[in-house]
Amino acid sequence: MTDRVIIAGAGFGGLETALRLREKNKKVEIIVIDKKSFFTYKASLHKLISGRSKKKRITIELEELLAKHRIKFYNDEVIQVKPLEKAVLTLSRKINFDYIVLSFGGVTNYFGVEGAKENSFELKEVLDSMKIKKHVMEEVEKAKYYTDRIKIIICGAGLTGVETAGELVDMTKGKAKIILAEANSTIMPGFDKKVIEYAEKVLKKKGVTIINNAHIKRAEKGKITLKDGTEMYSNVMVWCCGIKPNPLTHKTGLRTNDRGAIMVNEYLQTSHPHIYAIGDCAYLYKNPQPTTALIAIQEGKVTAHNINADITKGEKKSFNAEDWPYVITFGKGKAIMIKKKSVKTGLIPAIIKRFIEKNYLFTRKHWRWPINKMVLE
Ligand SMILES: Cc1cc2nc3c(=O)[nH]c(=O)nc-3n(C[C@H](O)[C@H](O)[C@H](O)COP(=O)(O)OP(=O)(O)OC[C@H]3O[C@@H](n4cnc5c(N)ncnc54)[C@H](O)[C@@H]3O)c2cc1C
Repeated sequence: MTDRVIIAGAGFGGLETALRLREKNKKVEIIVIDKKSFFTYKASLHKLISGRSKKKRITIELEELLAKHRIKFYNDEVIQVKPLEKAVLTLSRKINFDYIVLSFGGVTNYFGVEGAKENSFELKEVLDSMKIKKHVMEEVEKAKYYTDRIKIIICGAGLTGVETAGELVDMTKGKAKIILAEANSTIMPGFDKKVIEYAEKVLKKKGVTIINNAHIKRAEKGKITLKDGTEMYSNVMVWCCGIKPNPLTHKTGLRTNDRGAIMVNEYLQTSHPHIYAIGDCAYLYKNPQPTTALIAIQEGKVTAHNINADITKGEKKSFNAEDWPYVITFGKGKAIMIKKKSVKTGLIPAIIKRFIEKNYLFTRKHWRWPINKMVLE
């Protein structure tokens, strides 16, 4: 009998696993389940807000793509995993598996801040970008006959926060005051001083107001209150304070860490060896990794290899992150590229980021196109 592999979540990690596993093993039955019908290239979501990109350019219809590779797609929501029964429950069915890959990503982390979820926009999906865009445009339109500019507060100056700030400042063309509020003493905490200084210089030059040490205590409609009592008012509030593992991890019966991420070994296996977990919902406990698309893709590649090795009694590989460059944009034409200790700034990294996006989407849509061998192996 052929083995059945289920992939729960078709984001960066899940899609990579599905396509790579089919490439390695023509016989195995692969079923991908995702609550959305399309894959989203999340690293470009902020460009949807400003209109520099469009939904159809950064998404891929899953059913159409997967059918070409004889991979079944269920547009359904996973609600529970039963490791001992080797079964997964979705909203509409129960499916048994031989192997399953849990790749259902993360959710916005509000860090328990009262009112944050209800009174701000998150940025995780295409729909979120559309909502932010619509709201900003409406507020700008309403403010047309007043002298005051509208205020947009971006809470959190990590990667998503700074990229969103750069995009919003370009989009609003002086019609909005953009405030970037960060709880730490610097934007982009954890990054090299050189990177932070460049980001600050570019953002300030574009007109973004940066407020560090801004510990948000409470959010209300149009207002945040900091721990020191300072009140800040805004027309639009975007929450970019980070993510946490999808709470579905608690419905898997698997070992999780204190953040709720599923603990995996060097082969990306969970406490049940036929269950793999990758990407933003997993925690490689011997070698923790950042929650990025770059890591999820690489983990997908190793998982495909390891499941095929399980099936064919081959040798499994342990996960070692390759050092791929990380590019951060600050609106049009300004970006920074980081690779190990080397940092490049300006227009070239911005062009490279665009190339990375186009290359990723093209090679996934045309998986058999020979260039994916050259670019991805
Ligand atoms: C705005 C933004 C910008 C970013 N920029 C970058 C960047 O420049 N570079 C970088 O490396 N990373 C970036 N990231 C991070 C990157 O997108 C994530 O780390 C990456 O998406 C994680 O991949 P994943 O496969 O774990 O999860 P995801 O890609 O989030 O995929 C999870 C999938 O699971 C599905 N799912 C969730 N729950 C269920 C369920 N119950 N049932 C069925 N399906 C479910 C979702 O619909 C989704 O398709 C960015 C993230 C955001 C939000």
